[in-house]
Amino acid sequence: MLQLYVPLNFLGVMYRELKQSLVDVDKMFTLLHSSPDVTDAVDAVDLHMAQGKIEFKHVNFSYNQNRQILHDVSFTVAPNTTTAIVGKSGAGKSTLSRLLFRFYDINSGEVLIDGQNIAHITQSSLRRAIGIVPQDTVLFNDSLGYNIQYGRPDASMDEVRAAATAAHLDDFLSRLPEGLETAVGERGLKISGGEKQRVAIARTLLKGTPILIFDEATSALDSHAEKAIQSAFDEAAQNHTTLIVAHRLSTIIHADQILVMDAGRIVERGTHGELLAQNGTYAAMWAAQQDE
Ligand code: ADP
Ligand code: MG
Repeated sequence: MLQLYVPLNFLGVMYRELKQSLVDVDKMFTLLHSSPDVTDAVDAVDLHMAQGKIEFKHVNFSYNQNRQILHDVSFTVAPNTTTAIVGKSGAGKSTLSRLLFRFYDINSGEVLIDGQNIAHITQSSLRRAIGIVPQDTVLFNDSLGYNIQYGRPDASMDEVRAAATAAHLDDFLSRLPEGLETAVGERGLKISGGEKQRVAIARTLLKGTPILIFDEATSALDSHAEKAIQSAFDEAAQNHTTLIVAHRLSTIIHADQILVMDAGRIVERGTHGELLAQNGTYAAMWAAQQDE
């Protein structure tokens, strides 16, 4: 699974260089998977996945000294439930998912999975446990099938096809003479943002991790396509612990818990109904979106 929090132009440059020097493409992803700022503790152990409970406890975080980004963020995602995170752009939503992945170390507080502080577990075991559909997906210069199968390289073609179906790629694939064999990228198919997102969703569903993160994973889809894919999320959410960063509130009204973030703080939390009743930030966001 590909988690990209690096500038895309950096990836482009690196990819070209790797292509030219015929370096194994997988090495690039080893590079991308490791964060320069984070190292395994000397006594790090593998994560022991149990039910998939996520806890943030009094987390304070800044990317650099100048500005604190997260302020005393605490929340719990119970196993096999869905927590949605909403809020203005820049509120800190994507930062939460990056911290769960331990792309950065926090300044203070704790991030725990099934009671284990992620600062004390190996990064590789942590990243095996979490599937993320990031805001900006980048596909490999390879076939669509490869791009999906990357989620779990030992998956069968039947499983790859099932993941494609779950991500509502069938219509798209049926229009391509070569189907899953179609090459994407520079010399292949030009693919729209929405199709890219669906490939990333298929990849993540195929990875089949206990914890799923969708970070505005459907932002490039129109609301019709978004509704269509919603059932795939709902299905996946039944037996996964799911964090979903959402822009369109209509997609998360059934979440077990909604966190409303503003300027790095959780300012409201509750179910859709509870938050509407509070008549605060969430209710105002909801009202604004009804008028759109
Ligand atoms: P959201 O996903 O809610 O739009 P983010 O979590 O991406 O917000 O960003 C929260 C804040 O952190 C923003 O002010 C953003 O500018 C800042 N930020 C994000 N990434 C970085 C980074 N790599 N370095 C410095 N600041 C960053
Ligand atoms: Mg974001």
